[in-house]
Amino acid sequence: MYLRKASTNTSFELDNDSDLLRRRKIQKRILVAGGAGFLGAHLCERLLAAGHQVTCLDNFSTGLRRNIAPLQRFGTFSIIAHDIVQPMDIEVDEIYNLACPASPSHYQADPIQTTRTCVIGALNLLELAARRGARIFQASTSEIYGDPHIHPQVESYWGNVNPFGPRACYDEGKRCAETLFFDFHRMHGVDVKIVRIFNTYGPRMRPDDGRVVSNFIVQALKGADITIYGDGLQTRSFCFVDDMIDGFLRVMASPPSFTGPVNLGNPGEFMIGELAAQVVELTGSRSRIVHRPLPADDPRQRRPDISLAIGELGWRPTVALAEGLAETIRYFEGLLTRSTLETRE
Ligand code: NAD
Ligand code: UDP
Repeated sequence: MYLRKASTNTSFELDNDSDLLRRRKIQKRILVAGGAGFLGAHLCERLLAAGHQVTCLDNFSTGLRRNIAPLQRFGTFSIIAHDIVQPMDIEVDEIYNLACPASPSHYQADPIQTTRTCVIGALNLLELAARRGARIFQASTSEIYGDPHIHPQVESYWGNVNPFGPRACYDEGKRCAETLFFDFHRMHGVDVKIVRIFNTYGPRMRPDDGRVVSNFIVQALKGADITIYGDGLQTRSFCFVDDMIDGFLRVMASPPSFTGPVNLGNPGEFMIGELAAQVVELTGSRSRIVHRPLPADDPRQRRPDISLAIGELGWRPTVALAEGLAETIRYFEGLLTRSTLETRE
C-alpha cells in the first residue's frame, strides 16, 4: 500500500477508499507514531494481524527499518518518514503515540529534541485526533513517578521528579504530554487513553539501545564485562513485550469513560544485580560483573501497582522474567550469528 502526498508536504492521503476498506474487511485505520521502534513494531504487527490498516509514522531516530521490513507482507501496512514535531494530517480512526526515544542514553543525547518530541509532538497528534475525531493513546511512563517516595507506585501518586536534571527532558516532557492529553479531553472532548509503561524488554530492542536488559544480554553473549551502574541494589520491574502489547490493545478497546492514566508493568521486582546474575546463568556466559558510576537521578526502586489494570481491563502479565529473558537471549543470539550485532537497518 502506497501513500501519496497531498497538497502540503505534511498532509497524507491513503489510496484506499472506504469501499475498498469494507471489501477487505479492514476494521480501522490506525496510525502508530514511533512504529519502527521496539514497542511500535510489535504493536504494528499485532494490529495488522488483527486485520487493521496500519500506518507507521517514524523519524527513524532510534527506530530501525529492519523492525518493520517484515510487515510489508501485509498489504495493509504503510510507512511515513516524518517527525511528529512537524504538524501532519491523515485520515485516521485511532492514533497510538509511541514516538519518543525511551532509553536514557538516547533521550539524553539531544534533550531539547526529546522535550520537543514529548510536548510539541503530542500537541500535533492531539490536534490531528481532534480534527479527525480519532481516539488517541499516549505511551506515558513510570518516569512520571521519578525517584518515588511511594512504593509500589499507584496512579494517584504525583511523583518526585527533578525538573532540571539530565532525565528531566523525558520525565517532564512526558508529564506535560499527560497534561495536554487531559486538557484536550476536557476542552475538546477528545477520546484519550494514557498508559504508564514500566520497564519493558524483548526481541527487537536495539543491541546498542543502552537499557539494562539489552546491555546485559549483549555483553554476556559477547563475553564482555557486564556493567552494573552503582551497587546494583536499585530495583526495576521488567515486563515482557507481548504482555505489554496485550495491555495496550485492552486499553485502546476500553470504553471512552476509561481514560487512564493506568500503570502497565510486571509487578515482579528485581535488583539490577539479580538481573545480571540471571542473564549470566541463562547465557552460560563467562563475563565478569563490573561496577560503573550510578547515573544522576537514577531511581532507587520501581514497581507498579497494577490493581487498576486488573480491575478495569482484566489485564495482568503472564510471562515470567526467566522465560522472557530466554526468548530475548535467543533473539540477540540470532542477530549475533547473522552479523556482528549491527545497529543500523
Ligand atoms: P524506541 O526508542 O525503540 O522507539 C521509539 C520510536 O519513536 C523510534 O522508532 C523512534 O525513531 C521514534 N521517534 C522518536 N522521536 C520521534 C519523532 N520526533 N518523530 C517521529 N518518530 C520519533 O522506544 P520504545 O521502547 O519502543 O518506546 C516506545 C514508547 O513507549 C516511547 O514513547 C517511550 O517513552 C514509551 N515507554 C517505553 C518503555 C519501555 O520500557 N520500552 C517504558 C516507558 C515508556
Ligand atoms: N543499568 C545498569 N547497567 C547498564 C544499564 C543500566 O546497571 O548497562 C541500570 C540503570 O542505572 C538503572 C537500571 O539499570 O538503575 C535500569 O536502567 P534502564 O536504562 O534500563 O531504565 P530506567 O533507568 O529508565 O528505568
